[in-house]
Amino acid sequence: MRVYNFSAGPSTLPLPVLERAAAEMTDANGTGQSVMEMSHRSGDFKPIIEKTEALLRELMEIPPNYRVLFLQGGASLQFSMIPLNLAAGEAGAQKKRAVYVETGVWAKKAAEEGVKYADAVTLASSGDRGYTYIPPAPAPDPGDAFYHITLNNTIVGTKWNTLPDTGPVPLAADISSCILSEPLEVSRFGILYAGAQKNLGPAGTTVVIIREDLIGRAPSWTPALLRYDISAGEGSMYNTPPCYGIYVIGLVLEWLKGLGGVRAMAELNREKAEILYGYLENSKGFRSPVEKPFRSLMNIPFVCTGADPEARKNRETRFITEAAAEGLVNLAGHRLVGGMRASIYNAMPREGVRALIAFMEKFEKQEGKK
Ligand SMILES: *Cc1c(COP(=O)(O)O)cnc(C)c1O
Repeated sequence: MRVYNFSAGPSTLPLPVLERAAAEMTDANGTGQSVMEMSHRSGDFKPIIEKTEALLRELMEIPPNYRVLFLQGGASLQFSMIPLNLAAGEAGAQKKRAVYVETGVWAKKAAEEGVKYADAVTLASSGDRGYTYIPPAPAPDPGDAFYHITLNNTIVGTKWNTLPDTGPVPLAADISSCILSEPLEVSRFGILYAGAQKNLGPAGTTVVIIREDLIGRAPSWTPALLRYDISAGEGSMYNTPPCYGIYVIGLVLEWLKGLGGVRAMAELNREKAEILYGYLENSKGFRSPVEKPFRSLMNIPFVCTGADPEARKNRETRFITEAAAEGLVNLAGHRLVGGMRASIYNAMPREGVRALIAFMEKFEKQEGKK
């Protein structure tokens, strides 16, 4: 039986995509080979990576002066690659200033890595209230190398609704947990990146979308595999790319296009989030800890109500266990924040959210909260 999987990542994939991958497992496109077995330089694989890139460009409306790269190392390696390529100087030279807004654990990790290769400055943080809001974004200095934000904060469940005005400074955004969930104006950004395992496909591929003028700024001591110019020059094939992941991302993009593209997806995502937030608003047994204007469409944390922390925690543990027994799995909140979290990425059907709400209702009744 397929469960409804609310994992924050790796996360649920569309069933038609998994079924198609299974059907093509031993013979893809009549080649007599699995995609896993293909030479990445062969004529069999070339159309696969080209199709994946073309679909991503079409769905995200990526302008021609941006390059799409399929890399490895996860979103976390971009925490290092961005400052290394855009702000680190030649040996002995001064590092350029780069600025960060700290809206969560991933944003903080990005800034910590930034300190190594840039003169990294955190301009604002929402850490004072457990990252439950997005702080006002201060303006950068015009000479800053880049301005880094985490567009959707996976762990606490917040998102930026208005992009900071960074003037001439390139905006760099981690979109790991919101890529393709809503329309995004790519031209507002210098660089966008996402680990695939939330909204795109299996873990192991990182998608980077970078404006061409930002390529080629790495100092000469940069390792070859960490240079955007080398990856861009080699069509993401300086070495073996994550071939199978790129193929599955292509299938996910085809599925998304078939549903009507990003606009249709965004409508469905808003509907799913609204019914869950709406339920939480009216619930006596559960509540959302996130400040209303900043609530994520993708990651929805919630906690049990009640004054006694011990009793609350016991109820939450029981909720997570009993939900799993009913096929609603991976609802535990991130280990740093506790409580529950429903990640309802693109591939989570409306029915999954409805099933979760039905279970919450049942649980509240049992608890005498309804
Ligand atoms: C999951 C996640 C990461 C970490 O991704 P890896 O691919 O594991 O490095 C970074 N940023 C955000 C916003 C995430 O959701």
